Amino acid sequence: VILAASVPPSLVIRNGTVITMDRKRRIVRGDIHVTDGQIRAVVAGTRKADGSARGATVLDATDCLVIPGLVQTHVHLCQTLFRGRADDLPLLKWLRTRIWPFEAALDEASLRTSAQLGLLELLLGGTTTILDMGTVHHQDIVFEAMEQAGVRGFSGKSMMDVGQGLPKPMREGTRASLDETDRLAAAWHGAAHGRLGYAVAPRFILSCSRELLEGARDLALRHRAPIHTHAAEHPDEVAAVRRTTGKTSVRALHDLGLTGTRSIFAHCVHLTPADRKLLAETKTAVAHCPSANLKLGSGIADIVALRRAEVTVGIGADGAACNNLLCAWTEMRLAGLLASVRHGPGVLTAADLLAIGTIDGAKALGLERVIGSLEPGKRADLVVIAPDHTVEPAEDPYARLIWSGRACDVRDVVIDGRIVVRNRECLTLDADSIRAHAKQHARRIASHV
Ligand SMILES: [Zn+2]
Repeated sequence: VILAASVPPSLVIRNGTVITMDRKRRIVRGDIHVTDGQIRAVVAGTRKADGSARGATVLDATDCLVIPGLVQTHVHLCQTLFRGRADDLPLLKWLRTRIWPFEAALDEASLRTSAQLGLLELLLGGTTTILDMGTVHHQDIVFEAMEQAGVRGFSGKSMMDVGQGLPKPMREGTRASLDETDRLAAAWHGAAHGRLGYAVAPRFILSCSRELLEGARDLALRHRAPIHTHAAEHPDEVAAVRRTTGKTSVRALHDLGLTGTRSIFAHCVHLTPADRKLLAETKTAVAHCPSANLKLGSGIADIVALRRAEVTVGIGADGAACNNLLCAWTEMRLAGLLASVRHGPGVLTAADLLAIGTIDGAKALGLERVIGSLEPGKRADLVVIAPDHTVEPAEDPYARLIWSGRACDVRDVVIDGRIVVRNRECLTLDADSIRAHAKQHARRIASHV
C-alpha cells in the first residue's frame, strides 16, 4: 500500500500488523521490506510465511504487532551496576552518598560491564535508541559498548567542576572537562555510520560553574551536537539553584544559552508557567522519567501542560539506581496513568503514549526524519511484539501495547536493518558472560561506599 520498491530487499518482516506511527497513524497488515538498513516499502497483503523473498532474510511476524523501535531520551548506562544499592533516598542525598561515590569507583572494566548490562536490558525490551548520560571518566568505553551492542543513540561524559558532596575524583578542572568533551565529540559524533552521536552533558546546574556551562554551550554549537542535562527535578535542587543563581533552572540555563532545538532537559518536574513558555519558545525538548521521579520522591511532571504548550516530550527510565528497571513500557504506561490522575482519563490516549515512546522521542533527539515511524526512507529500527494470549482479547493495538504491554512481549529487534534480538536472545552481546561479570563488579563497587 505504501510505495513499492524495485530494489530486492535484504530483510523482510512478513505478515505483521504494522503500527506505522506515521502522520496518519496508519496500521498496515503486511510486509516491511528493508534494504541496506533502510525501509524501502510497507506492503499490504498476506503472503505465505515461507514464501519466496528473493534471497532475503525473513522474520515471520504472523499474529505479531510490529512497531517502531522505542526511544528513551534519558538513561544512565554507567549506573546499571548500582541497581538495588541506592534505594529509599531523596535526590541530593542519593547523589552524594551513593551515586557519585559509586561512579567514582568505576574503572574501565566495570564501566564496560555496566553499560553492556544496561544495553542488554534495553535491547531485549525493545528500546532501540537512547540518549545516555555518562559518568566523568572513561567515556570511550560507553561508546564502544554502544557500538558493539548495535544500539542507536547519543551519549556524553558527565561534566562536573563544582558542587557540594562531590568525591575528589569526580571533580574536574573546568578546562580539562571541556577539553575531554571536545576530544570525545570529535571521536564519536557521527560514528558507526551515523548510528552514534555525542551529546554534550553538563550534569546539572549545581555541579557546573558558569564557565563550564558556557563552554559546554560553545562546544555543542561547534560540533552541532545536542545538549543533555538535568533540570528542575526535585524541590531541594530547585531551591538550591535559586539560592545560587536567583533563578529557576530553566531560566538559568536559558540565560546561558543552553536552551534550543538541540537541547534535551531531563525531568522538568517543577516548572513555572514562564519556564514552560521558555521551553516552548526555544523548542527545548523534555525527557519525562516518571518512575525515577516517583521513586526519589521528586514529584510528577505535568507533561500534558508541556504538550499543550507544544513542547516535545520523550520518555526515559533514567538509571537502574533510581528506577530500578530500564523499561520503556513501564515509563509509557506510568506516564499515561499519571496524566490520567492529573487531567482525567483519555487526555493522553494509548496512541499518544506510544508516540511519546517512538516518534516524539525521535523528534526530541532531532531524529524524526531518520527513525520513530515505519515509513519508506527511514532507517529500519523496529520491534516485533509476540502475541500474548494472557492479555486477550486486545482489539485496539495501541491499548494492547500501552496498557497491557511489557518488555517480555518483545520477540525480535532490528536496528539499522540489523537483527540484534531474535527470539528473545540478544545476538550482539554475550548475556551470560555480562551477567557473571556484573555480579563481581557490583560487589566490589558497593564495598567502596
Ligand atoms: Zn538522570
